[in-house]
Amino acid sequence: MTNKTNSDDVYVVGGGIIGLSIAWQLSREGRKVTVLDQKQIAKGTSWAGAGILPPANLKNATDPLDQLRGLSHELLPAWAEQLTKETGQNAGLQRCGGWYLAESVGEMAALMGQADYWSDLQIEVEQVPLQDLCRREPVLSQWARGEQAIGAWWVPDEYQLRPPRYLNVIHEACRNHKVKLREKCKVTEVRESKSRPQVCVNGHWHSCKQLVLCGGAWLSQFTQSQGLGNSVIPVRGQMLLLKTLNALSSRIINMGHRYLVCREDGHILVGSCEEEVGFQEGTTPYVINSLNDFACSVIPELRYAERVNCWSGLRPMTFDGFPMIGRIPRLHNTFVACGHFRSGLHLSAGTASIIADLLQGRKPSICIDSFRIGKQMVETHHCS
Ligand SMILES: Cc1cc2nc3c(=O)[nH]c(=O)nc-3n(C[C@H](O)[C@H](O)[C@H](O)COP(=O)(O)OP(=O)(O)OC[C@H]3O[C@@H](n4cnc5c(N)ncnc54)[C@H](O)[C@@H]3O)c2cc1C
Repeated sequence: MTNKTNSDDVYVVGGGIIGLSIAWQLSREGRKVTVLDQKQIAKGTSWAGAGILPPANLKNATDPLDQLRGLSHELLPAWAEQLTKETGQNAGLQRCGGWYLAESVGEMAALMGQADYWSDLQIEVEQVPLQDLCRREPVLSQWARGEQAIGAWWVPDEYQLRPPRYLNVIHEACRNHKVKLREKCKVTEVRESKSRPQVCVNGHWHSCKQLVLCGGAWLSQFTQSQGLGNSVIPVRGQMLLLKTLNALSSRIINMGHRYLVCREDGHILVGSCEEEVGFQEGTTPYVINSLNDFACSVIPELRYAERVNCWSGLRPMTFDGFPMIGRIPRLHNTFVACGHFRSGLHLSAGTASIIADLLQGRKPSICIDSFRIGKQMVETHHCS
């Protein structure tokens, strides 16, 4: 093994939405950044996501996750515009609005609580009588007249983005800013020597000034020696892509943990599920068929839709549901941005802005105590 010192000052491990967002933000601030990915950049869990960005309001949020969501929600439209300006490509962010539907008493109660909470945050939300739903969203009229339907809410400030498109654009923007993008570079261990972080890549140690670990669901595999071996677990989600000849809607339709993301070109993304199956990727006929049944129960016309594709992704879940954003306490220049579970696409801009603040010695614009890394290390200690 050899020791290599690189003049690049920031290494980012992981080229998903979190790593690329951080790389783009830092490169815009003049930092020299290298992104290392064990496989392909922009093809991990982030590629597999649905791209639902529920409403948020930073101004009134008190919950730490809602503050991060609010920060991202404020930043993302400006980010999308800037990305489009830099690359000439549409980043695909759209304020499409979302329907929230209830079919059971439990779903109704949960949505009434959620609607009250949104109202408290001064997020616009409207309960829509089922007879009005038929007129407002004709594609839901059969559902609204059916026996299962109990309630519907409309939330105008919900956005959608198309993950492959957004990732392509941010990837391209990083390239334009001379970020070095290295694929097939597997990091197996990290350490620090005289305050300089070091990563072991394909058997060789490299050092840099500052290191950010964004390994998604795989983070624990290369941070064991830093006490983070139990910090993140993979939770598989499966997705089905349908296509109709003409677009039926351009909204997002949410019901419990499942949803239909209607794209303007007639594609409809149907998700998802939560499965703890380790690092096993791939889809199962049972889940894909049940997603198809769900889609057809909400929009019966989808019985005739083309089944275009199906895939899975591994969401990075932490033990307390909060992402980890901050410095590893016992190290001087090694940071983590990981564990965004079902919201990494939404939380990416806010996370990148916080990490850039920390690396550049600025105070982050929101309190990040709940995201600190020490908690996971205490947990790891108890577990061992
Ligand atoms: C089905 C599904 C639907 C989703 N829908 C939404 C949604 O609607 N809205 C939303 O906000 N979020 C959604 N998510 C969640 C979101 O996709 C994730 O939170 C997000 O992608 C996590 O981003 P990441 O950059 O941390 O991880 P990833 O995208 O997985 O990136 C991590 C990268 O690190 C690399 N890596 C790992 N280990 C190493 C190593 N040892 N050395 C080098 N590189 C390494 C990997 O190859 C990978 O490219 C969804 C997820 C799934 C699965």
